[in-house]
Amino acid sequence: MGWDELGPAVAGCRTCALCQARKQAVLGVGDVNADWLFVGEGPGAEEDERGEPFVGQAGKLLDAMLAAIDLKRGTDVYIGNSVKCRPPNNRTPEPDETAACWPYLARQIELIKPRLIVALGRPAAQTLLQTEVKISSSRGRLFDYKGIPVVVTYHPAYLLRTLPEKAKAWEDLCFARRTMGKLKVS
Ligand code: URA
Ligand code: SF4
Repeated sequence: MGWDELGPAVAGCRTCALCQARKQAVLGVGDVNADWLFVGEGPGAEEDERGEPFVGQAGKLLDAMLAAIDLKRGTDVYIGNSVKCRPPNNRTPEPDETAACWPYLARQIELIKPRLIVALGRPAAQTLLQTEVKISSSRGRLFDYKGIPVVVTYHPAYLLRTLPEKAKAWEDLCFARRTMGKLKVS
């Protein structure tokens, strides 16, 4: 599937129960040739309404986090989610839902070919790495998805509830930027 097929396939997808309450599926947004891929959990109410990832409060924080490492939504950055349809009441997606939706994200990664992936929160990290992940003990480490380095950090919505952790997310992004810097010179 290329981008031309992926959009309509996701828009009409009824593979898991999350299709039932969504207004629309949210594929992702940004530069399809980006070096940076950020992966969140799933659309919330505003994303479901507008069809774009991270446009609510968590999205504002994500944009600020991107700006802190000189990145900008849409410019060398692609933003996606581990599930494309909003879980009811913003609950965490179930493992069978992330599994059902995974082929779309896997295809997005194949098409974008990012140099580095940042997993925002546990569901994203576990979807990408196919293993149990605890963010606090995985920060600052490099993981691998098919040869692409993966950095994990806290989800922005969690940071909004737990402000003292914000500094750690900033450290994680600096780690990600240093990693990218090394990739680009090698
Ligand atoms: N939280 C996410 O994980 N993804 C979004 O798109 C919005 C909020
Ligand atoms: Fe399909 Fe993914 Fe939406 Fe489930 S969450 S219906 S797998 S697009």
